[in-house]
Amino acid sequence: MNAPLRTESPELAPQSADPLDHLADVLFHKMGTDGVYARTALYEDVVERLAALITRHRDDGTEVMRFPPVMNRAQLEKSGYLKSFPNLLGCVCGLHGTEREINAAVSRFDAGGDWTTSLSPADLVLSPAACYPVYPIAAARGPLPAGGLRFDVAADCFRREPSRHLDRLQSFRMREYVCIGTADDVSDFRERWMVRAQQIARDLGLSFRVDYASDPFFGRVGQMKAVSQKQQSLKFELLVPLRSEEKPTACMSFNYHQAHFGTTWGIKDADGEPAHTGCVAFGMDRLAVAMFHTHGTNLDAWSAKVRELLGLPAHAIADAHIEGWR
Ligand code: AMP
Ligand code: ZN
Repeated sequence: MNAPLRTESPELAPQSADPLDHLADVLFHKMGTDGVYARTALYEDVVERLAALITRHRDDGTEVMRFPPVMNRAQLEKSGYLKSFPNLLGCVCGLHGTEREINAAVSRFDAGGDWTTSLSPADLVLSPAACYPVYPIAAARGPLPAGGLRFDVAADCFRREPSRHLDRLQSFRMREYVCIGTADDVSDFRERWMVRAQQIARDLGLSFRVDYASDPFFGRVGQMKAVSQKQQSLKFELLVPLRSEEKPTACMSFNYHQAHFGTTWGIKDADGEPAHTGCVAFGMDRLAVAMFHTHGTNLDAWSAKVRELLGLPAHAIADAHIEGWR
């Protein structure tokens, strides 16, 4: 048997440098936990400009909804999340006891003890993706019109996957376009968006490739689900080589859920069949990190084409040059 490597112990592992580390001080402020950061004005400005760019590509007739960072726990349970990603879920907990029990928990903390043993779950979870809440809302409206429905949704999402890597956050922004309709409606939507999203990535000057993908399903059964998901081409990702070509970062995903949400929520298409659904998801934080990694942290040095696309004013350097000639 091989002796365990020293680096297997997290305490002993050296904090190896990551190719994205140089961005940390310019884009983020530490908040005491890996993967949870305060954002600088420079970073946030680019996130907002990317969001505006994505808005400009929105299909006509798309209904806009913005969700809070929490959602109803029973709705997420019903969606099947615990069967697939129980390890990633964050649940809101609180002190729900009597005044005496709550005071006892606080006193325990004051005495150096653990107050969290008195926590119990609320009826809320932290949203792990932006589109989950839209399906029950759509279901409540009755049968779909011919051609289905399109939504533009966004939320602050949480996934319990702590990492020092700046492209793997625990709290991150997700923007999604969602299609609810027949299998053909969803297939058209996804194909259209896969073309459009690649054009957006090209316009942004990002290197990328699109590939079959699978979700990080939990456990051994999960590995089988991942294989089947790939075989059926249910998920594609737009991958940007941020730290290496071999391990690129998924900045967008194109997902086909078949009739999963339609059946779960009783959404019927215009013919009374269970609706099919699909979504295209933009990882807003990953896209912003990809932009800074690709083009640098000095926006003045970004190409005129990219600056124009993001609505940044024409180059200060060029302006100064023109002024010099006047
Ligand atoms: P998914 O539902 O896993 O396809 O996620 C949709 C998009 O959200 C991905 O393509 C990423 O861009 C983004 N995303 C997912 N997980 C994370 C994370 N831990 N940190 C930052 N962005 C993420
Ligand atoms: Zn989605």
